[in-house]
Amino acid sequence: MGQSADMDVSKPAYRHPTEWDLSLEAIPMPEFLRRSAQRTPDAALVDFMGRTYSYAEIWAEAQRFAAGLQARGVMKGDRIGLFLPNVPIYISAYYGAMLAGAVVVNFSPLYSADELSQQVRDSGTTMLVTLDVPALLPTAIEVLEASPLSQLVVGSLAAQLPTFKGIALRLFGRKQLTALPDRADVIHWTDMLGLNPAPVAIDADEDLALLQYTGGTTGTPKGAMLTHANLAANAQQVDALDPFDRSDPDIILGVLPMFHVFANTCVLNRTVVRGGMIAMLPRFEAKQALKAVNRVRPTAFPGVPTMYQALLDHPQIAKTDFSSLRVCISGGAALSAPTREKWEAVTGSRLCEGYGLTESAGVVSANPYDAERKPGTIGQVIPQTCIRLRDKEDAAKPAPEGEPGELVIRGPQVMRGYWNRPEAAKDAFVTIDGEAWLRTGDIAVIDDDGFIKIVDRSKDMIAVGGFKVFPSQVEEVLVEHEAVKEALVIGVPDDRMGERPKAFVTLNTGFEDTGGDGLSEWLNSRVGKHERVSGVVVRDDLPKTMIGKLDRKALRAEVLD
Ligand code: AMP
Repeated sequence: MGQSADMDVSKPAYRHPTEWDLSLEAIPMPEFLRRSAQRTPDAALVDFMGRTYSYAEIWAEAQRFAAGLQARGVMKGDRIGLFLPNVPIYISAYYGAMLAGAVVVNFSPLYSADELSQQVRDSGTTMLVTLDVPALLPTAIEVLEASPLSQLVVGSLAAQLPTFKGIALRLFGRKQLTALPDRADVIHWTDMLGLNPAPVAIDADEDLALLQYTGGTTGTPKGAMLTHANLAANAQQVDALDPFDRSDPDIILGVLPMFHVFANTCVLNRTVVRGGMIAMLPRFEAKQALKAVNRVRPTAFPGVPTMYQALLDHPQIAKTDFSSLRVCISGGAALSAPTREKWEAVTGSRLCEGYGLTESAGVVSANPYDAERKPGTIGQVIPQTCIRLRDKEDAAKPAPEGEPGELVIRGPQVMRGYWNRPEAAKDAFVTIDGEAWLRTGDIAVIDDDGFIKIVDRSKDMIAVGGFKVFPSQVEEVLVEHEAVKEALVIGVPDDRMGERPKAFVTLNTGFEDTGGDGLSEWLNSRVGKHERVSGVVVRDDLPKTMIGKLDRKALRAEVLD
């Protein structure tokens, strides 16, 4: 049938993922690793700075770790902590602990002894896996001595590298490896490996697989309780977004830290479900990441906006061949239009924005990789996820028609609650028609095609004389200025208005002479009355969270406390 004359062909036909027919398997997470290892035992699961580890090897090591845990009395439900950078044993320990029925607890490798100790206590972690590097081992030992932690398992960095590489050590900021102390509660990784783990019955819907602590930008970190089914669902939902031929190579550039929920789902679990390969770097460093792109020819690159920006700023980008990339996925924080446009122009690859949070096992929405998308939005909900907008002041009511509201979600990836914090967990959900919906704390609008735009976080809104100002909207305008590289806006006390926005920026190379006053004038002529800032402060850097998100909460504490 031909097109009718009055059909509106100017409007792109957006595909809606909620209409997809996708059946999710709710099975224990190690089952995905076992299957991929059975299907393609010799295929590489990890490339770690040039050394590859096959599916069969990692699966065998995970089983041996599970047997070792059982031999040392670890029972179903015990918490096993991972205090590791991105190294191959992260994967064996993660799946091995789950195979033994234990709950994995992710710890940021940047934690101080105090932070580590606090999270060890909160989660009741009894055994911690770490690495023999100066940035980690002394901290772990300090915590072993002064916390309920009873055993430390220490892997060797050198043993996981193809040859001894100074660069791997430099990535930890020091020059030498740390010798293992001779004590009974410090066990070498290889001594942990046993044989033939006893099978443990796991109920994927009920049993916890992971305690994933929230980033802390919204108060004290809380442990989101994620079941095997939560993780399995999100890995399959994310995998379903990928339209590319399954027989093509699938190589993920793994520079996001594994301990973070974004990497957990989008780098690790999704790749294991699919049987692809992770090109892993111990941590993100622009020069090493660009070198890795030339060497491993990745097909996908998930990252946070500051990573794309850092790569664009690096001179080696001109010598990097990005032609293997099918898609780049930005998440974790708002992606600015200049960063997206520049990334796409320089690399020729598509940069799609997605969105999610710890409490949703990672991902809630994404722009399509291959179909029409809407830059500036966080895309559409992923399959089998429902969203609604609720009143900004009172989540019990729907948001007024056409106005921004708090985004609430429902789906198989949503957490069970917060570990040991029933009150906080109660506040995290709102009951609508008898069903529990997760409150995201993010204020959003949704268009007719189902594309969501985050306007701000409810906690970050600035009250200017009774009007609510969204700092991210002011930041969005600021980064349009050619001199501005990064921007953060916070509310500062104001005698007349109660609060007023104030901006803090870093500058692009070549624009070092730009002054705050000029930027302030430029900005204030472009924004609404209440959004006008009391000033723009130029700084050498801005605080960032451990995954590299610009950190408003830290800036607020620094400026106001
Ligand atoms: P976390 O649990 O630490 O990963 O933080 C989740 C929060 O990060 C969300 O609630 C949002 O506030 C923010 N976030 C994640 N992705 C985006 C995005 N694409 N745009 C804006 N904010 C985002």
